[in-house]
Amino acid sequence: MQQNAAMQQNEPANLKDAKKIQIEGQKSKIKVGIPRALHFYRFFPFWKKLFEELDVEIVISSRTNKRIVEEGAFQGFGELCLPVKVYYGHVLHLMREHPDLDYIFVPRYVSEWTDGYFCPKFLSLPDVIRCLPGVPKILTYTINVKEEPIANAIISLARTLGKSQSEAIEAYKKTKEYHRQYQRFLRAGAPVNYALRLVEQGKSFGKVPKRRAKKIRLLLLGHGYNLFDNYVNLDFQKKLRDQGCEVITLENLPEELFKEPVVINRRFKNYWGHETEIMQAIRYFLTKGRKEIDGVIFLISFACGPDSLIAELIMRDMKVVGLPFLQVIMDEHTGEAGLLTRIESFIEMIKRKKRSMLEKSIHI
Ligand code: SF4
Repeated sequence: MQQNAAMQQNEPANLKDAKKIQIEGQKSKIKVGIPRALHFYRFFPFWKKLFEELDVEIVISSRTNKRIVEEGAFQGFGELCLPVKVYYGHVLHLMREHPDLDYIFVPRYVSEWTDGYFCPKFLSLPDVIRCLPGVPKILTYTINVKEEPIANAIISLARTLGKSQSEAIEAYKKTKEYHRQYQRFLRAGAPVNYALRLVEQGKSFGKVPKRRAKKIRLLLLGHGYNLFDNYVNLDFQKKLRDQGCEVITLENLPEELFKEPVVINRRFKNYWGHETEIMQAIRYFLTKGRKEIDGVIFLISFACGPDSLIAELIMRDMKVVGLPFLQVIMDEHTGEAGLLTRIESFIEMIKRKKRSMLEKSIHI
């Protein structure tokens, strides 16, 4: 008994907290809310598996809708990019719809690469969210592989949830393996939203659904939260498919394309990890993979610093190789009709280009 009391006195405060939630609230599991925004579209399978292994119940906010965007935009200042405003909206949605949450999960992503960073908005996310009115406890971890291994972040997160170091390491091992399977599934050609749906429903990945061969093949560039949040992007991919296009995204490309660093020039160095991935993909399609696509579309959020810089570089390269390129900048005021017109004209231009190339080849 005495030994038990002594052990309890030495327990870290967050461990006591976690146990208290379970005992006082008569709840079997800690309940954590996950906003369906920003890095949800990149890391959700990782988070879901990790929380499952740590015996935590998760609640995901609904798909983005008008109210979520409006509430988020109201909290965000004018020049803030749309994805962060949408993130605010999802946090507020979780608070309103799930008042019984013990925590809202707001990770801090600093760096996932040894030579690049996430956008500064990700670095400050937990601090900014804490300033929203009435936010419950924030559950967070910091991923910064430049300074410490991811395992350390998982151990500290697990401690907050009342789990031991060995439980955390075991959970991390299983999560890494699951996440690898998920990435393999995407690289085999599975569309991201399809794969995310399987993860959410707890289904196994199985076979990649066959895509019907289309006459026009497009590479769609951009951050996951721009490309796969269909409310925010006004169902952009469906609009392309309706025009008879096959769409590929970075997630579907082989891992080898992302191994070599990109050198822009001696004066300009890109510090943003995701933008580096975009340029690595483009490098392939400008060179060896030139014949594999008919055009490139870059979907950017208004007021996004990192994307606007590299979009300019990509546009110059596209002109040199003569590959059709469309840059679409979106915000909460983007209209459906205008967007459709731009897509239609772009596709028409590609069709004409293909026709004229075919005619030329016949005359030769
Ligand atoms: S990369 Fe751009 S769109 Fe994404 S959070 Fe940063 S500023 Fe916003």
